[in-house]
Amino acid sequence: MQRTMKSLACKPHAEVPADLVSAIDYFGDPQFCQQLVASLRWADSTPVCPLCGCNQSYYCSTRRVWKCKDCAKQFSVKLGTIFEDSHLTLQQWLPALWMMAKGTRGLSSRKLALLLGTTHRTIWFMQHRIRLTMRTDSFKRTAPAKRSEAA
Ligand SMILES: [Zn+2]
Repeated sequence: MQRTMKSLACKPHAEVPADLVSAIDYFGDPQFCQQLVASLRWADSTPVCPLCGCNQSYYCSTRRVWKCKDCAKQFSVKLGTIFEDSHLTLQQWLPALWMMAKGTRGLSSRKLALLLGTTHRTIWFMQHRIRLTMRTDSFKRTAPAKRSEAA
């Protein structure tokens, strides 16, 4: 079962934030953000190794990664998604995604950079990936990023 961008905008989680203040609170906990992405990504939030497809893994809570029981590789909830290869936290990604999914108009990338505590170039990078996600309606990363993310 593939979870989609539409799931974030109208997902079954009853308390989807209605405004920015609520969104900041909603996406404020890193553990919650990880669980949210896991629930959108994997059926029943059961992690599936993106490297071999195995659904048996150990969770390493200190690093917030899983270790696959089959291939023994570690993977995070970000691996294989638009969030991969990014120093940005899910606490930064998800509010940006929420704002773009809500169609917040008049919010420039400079303002978004200020709100999320990052650079203008990083916001361009995020927006590129989020737009790709909206076009494909999937969090899965379909093509390698053409440019690297600015710090
Ligand atoms: Zn594996």
